[in-house]
Amino acid sequence: METALQTIKGIGPGRERQFHRLGVRTIPGLLTYFPRAYENRSHIVPLRELKAGETAAVIGTIATVQEKRPRRGLSILEIVLADSTGRCKIVFFNQSYKKNMYKKGLRLYAYGKVDMGYGALQMNTPHVEMLYGDQQPDTGIVPVYPLVEGVSQYIVRQALTNWFAAHRELPDILPPEVSEAHSFMTRYAAFKEMHFPSTPEAYKAARRQLAYEELFVMQAGLLLLRSRQQAVQGVAMKTNGPLITSFLASLPFTLTGDQQRAFHEIATDMEDNLPMQRLLQGDVGSGKTVVGALALLKAVENGYQGALMAPTEILAQQHYESITAMCGTLDVTLALLTGSTKAKEKQAIYEDLAAGTIDIVIGTHALIQEGVHFNKLALTIIDEQHRFGVEQRARLQQKGMNPHVLVMTATPIPRTMTLSIYGDLEVSAIKEMPPGRKPVQTFAVNSSYKERMRNFFAKEMEAGHQVYVVCPLVEESEKLDLQAAEALYMELAAYYHGRFAVGMVHGRMSAAEKEEVMEAFHRRDIQLLVSTTVIEVGVNVPNATIMCVEGAERFGLSQLHQLRGRVGRGDAQAYCILVSDSRNEESKKRLHLMETIQDGFVLAEQDLLLRGAGQLFGLIQHGLPDLKVADIVRDIDMLAEARRDAKAFIAKQGFAYCAEKMKPELEQRFGDDFIRILYS
Ligand code: ADP
Ligand code: MG
Repeated sequence: METALQTIKGIGPGRERQFHRLGVRTIPGLLTYFPRAYENRSHIVPLRELKAGETAAVIGTIATVQEKRPRRGLSILEIVLADSTGRCKIVFFNQSYKKNMYKKGLRLYAYGKVDMGYGALQMNTPHVEMLYGDQQPDTGIVPVYPLVEGVSQYIVRQALTNWFAAHRELPDILPPEVSEAHSFMTRYAAFKEMHFPSTPEAYKAARRQLAYEELFVMQAGLLLLRSRQQAVQGVAMKTNGPLITSFLASLPFTLTGDQQRAFHEIATDMEDNLPMQRLLQGDVGSGKTVVGALALLKAVENGYQGALMAPTEILAQQHYESITAMCGTLDVTLALLTGSTKAKEKQAIYEDLAAGTIDIVIGTHALIQEGVHFNKLALTIIDEQHRFGVEQRARLQQKGMNPHVLVMTATPIPRTMTLSIYGDLEVSAIKEMPPGRKPVQTFAVNSSYKERMRNFFAKEMEAGHQVYVVCPLVEESEKLDLQAAEALYMELAAYYHGRFAVGMVHGRMSAAEKEEVMEAFHRRDIQLLVSTTVIEVGVNVPNATIMCVEGAERFGLSQLHQLRGRVGRGDAQAYCILVSDSRNEESKKRLHLMETIQDGFVLAEQDLLLRGAGQLFGLIQHGLPDLKVADIVRDIDMLAEARRDAKAFIAKQGFAYCAEKMKPELEQRFGDDFIRILYS
């Protein structure tokens, strides 16, 4: 298929540049540049029949044009339209430059919402087109595209109209039996109906079809990846032996039922020679680390190496410390490898990993660097999956002997969504918390509580506890946010001066600087920590009892829940204070949910309902295709169907055939990295 934009009639280098500004670079890009809305112009409403609250298309002759300037900086252009049945006012704000375009007697097409203004019907800033002579407007259902300045609806419509006029078909990507079973129209027809619907019903059918197609391609991609990873012989481990037994015996606690079940599932996978591909899901504090440690020891017990990769140095360090402590006197050699490991030490670790004298290595991205070679890597664990892409997971995997893979995540993903997001993984979930945890008391307040909060912080700190204060950083104005956070830090430092030590950690600091502050907090040299970064508070400081979040409305429920999970890790009662001055009803509702709900899964479901999938989806995993038509939440049933169909297709035709057939589509949707992994 021809993909260059300039092959379309009417598109030269200048037009092409305009399309680039819309992010459209190829013909497939143009075809998937879907309208943001449609105007149904099939029915032109006589002016007398207009009703307030309705959106309507009208045609009339301009009766009067009047400009008013009620105050400086505001101009109102009022146009009265008339047809044989009545009149209607059209109003534009601050568009006086258009005044001379609208001449008495000219015919005008207008589309917009009808409102009641000063007792008469009017349309505020409708979409208008001038009709010269006896010209008629584009009729039917007309697409409205998302635009940037300098690019008009006309240009996009015209390019698509010309492309559809010059072509009769699009290559199919769904297997014919699937298209048949769903009674799908041709792919060409579906795209055409998305852009230029012939009827609302045809549009609906086209949308469903293209949504299904997206989901099918996504699921096929994930399933192919999975079958590629499983097409190889992994290492089959023996049943649990003495190392595991003594580890369990030396733990200061017994595993919860969910932890036992999760480890049983993992152990069973590892005893098979198909490489494990499993997700371990559990709320913050649910005790995933010990389950991960058990899996690592199982590899060691069988004479292999295990690796655990964490997204930040601090988390890697903490895992290293807690797993080292758990292993106690067991005969296991552990190493920590991060970006700040000294060159000489790094070299020694590289050598020991290659020689096999290190059993377990814990680290950051440093683990997937060029120089790292393992002797017998048979298990890789990846913590906090959503910060790593599909590709990084694969890179660590490639360092081993088709190792078993365990992904650990604290992001509670509703069960209905795990398939779509981790389509290539089996899932184990830890839902039950270790015994004795007290729920974190949560309060949503506004900033009028400032004084009371500060007294409360002081009371807790006097009792020997510690406090986190988180200020959100929003990317567009990172600099201003940082200034605000620094101001808050200064204010608190001055307020508690001489009584408590206040520290700060923010995203602009180097890893080493952050680490230093976190260490000080860990050692209790700092009692109150102001932070702008969410990741670095992923540390475990059981002595902290207050999590205060400023500008709480800027976080999603899942994020707030993760932050809240940083406290309440010790025996003392912990508190989460959500500060927000937002008057937005939805924000208030969300913060109220935090006060009443402790279960991360329930909160995630609520987040989905309130904010849609995008938020959660974006948070979870990189490397998945953008969905342009389908909506993971709304189309969840279709997703299950697409997955079933994709599975059947791959089972019937085999990996090689399907991978070849789907390649162009997978490349377009998943990107190069994915393709490199799948076809490597
Ligand atoms: P997360 O799932 O967030 O990674 P951790 O593994 O850090 O949770 O566990 C949180 C805390 O709970 C740790 O201090 C750990 O020692 C403790 N813990 C884990 N499992 C149990 C258990 N079964 N009983 C009591 N404490 C436990
Ligand atoms: Mg953890």
